[in-house]
Amino acid sequence: MIARSTQQIQQPNWISVLRDSYSDPIHLLRDLGLSPTDVEFLHEHSSFAFRVPRPFVSRMRPADPKDPLLLQVLPRRPELLKTLGSSTDPVGDLSQRVSPALIQKYHGRALMIISGGCAINCRYCFRRHFPYADSVGAAQVDQAIDFIRGDHSISEIILSGGDPLLLKDEHLQATITRLATIPHLRQLRVHTRLPVTIPSRITDSLLHTLTTTKLSPVIVFHINHPNEIDAELSTAFDRCRSAGIMLLNQSVLLRGINDDAATLRELSEALFAASVLPYYVHLLDPVDGAAHFDVSVKKAISIAANLRAQLPGYLMPRFVREIAGENSKVPIA
Ligand SMILES: *Cc1c(COP(=O)(O)O)cnc(C)c1O
Ligand code: SF4
Repeated sequence: MIARSTQQIQQPNWISVLRDSYSDPIHLLRDLGLSPTDVEFLHEHSSFAFRVPRPFVSRMRPADPKDPLLLQVLPRRPELLKTLGSSTDPVGDLSQRVSPALIQKYHGRALMIISGGCAINCRYCFRRHFPYADSVGAAQVDQAIDFIRGDHSISEIILSGGDPLLLKDEHLQATITRLATIPHLRQLRVHTRLPVTIPSRITDSLLHTLTTTKLSPVIVFHINHPNEIDAELSTAFDRCRSAGIMLLNQSVLLRGINDDAATLRELSEALFAASVLPYYVHLLDPVDGAAHFDVSVKKAISIAANLRAQLPGYLMPRFVREIAGENSKVPIA
């Protein structure tokens, strides 16, 4: 009896790790042995909250103000720069919603927003201003499922957010079970960064949910720098791969973080060693507050050419831009 009641109150490990995330950048800087002046720290209140799980922090180099993982999450003064052409809806998401939680831009696939939050808040995020409040909820999921059921051209559903894996396993299982009843759906894709920041998010029940549906499962992770991959994460990826899930990765090209061919080659090789294939390198979407991460198209083309000369074709990610109104992500020249 005692054993059972203990089990009932026990939360999966990832939820307690998530709760234990850093939510104050000053604490993070202190623990890394850095002072705010070392890093152009932005003290002013930002509407985009600070949140970083500890397993991700454990891969940062202490006392390095240019650490590529730290720079992805730390609010810095250049965020206040407003540049021409940047906006709060850079890729036209709002105009392409076919129902409040469903964005359909491309043939055959639709993207469903099922969570408004993430485990980590990346400062360059293109959805940092997205109005999640009117997209996420049970009624919105019902409407999205009705829409997909009525549109026979959709064969792939992409679960996105925010981060879809922020939902608990029971909730995901319920949504996926409903999606699997739609006869014309064949693939289930999950776009997530959560396991990268908290590897224990790859639970047995999640693997069970993803591999026992009639839909073919694909996970697209989001990793920008080889230092993000450690032994614990590799083990989690191996478990996904052994369960039969196709694993891909997308990165964002970020100034001062991964905007050179050597870093991206190392990333492709580290991904491959961890059972993941590189899929996309996205040019930054021009979102307000992220101009300091921007890499020019000209430089991106030269990095891509340099990278292509160093890698086998299957480890070469596609360099793409998202242009509102186009019928696919657009390869750079
Ligand atoms: C990026 C994106 C997709 C996925 O595109 P792929 O090229 O299939 O990876 C699907 N829907 C939306 C709305 C997107 O933004
Ligand atoms: S994990 Fe993805 S959606 Fe979430 S803040 Fe980072 S870039 Fe944005």
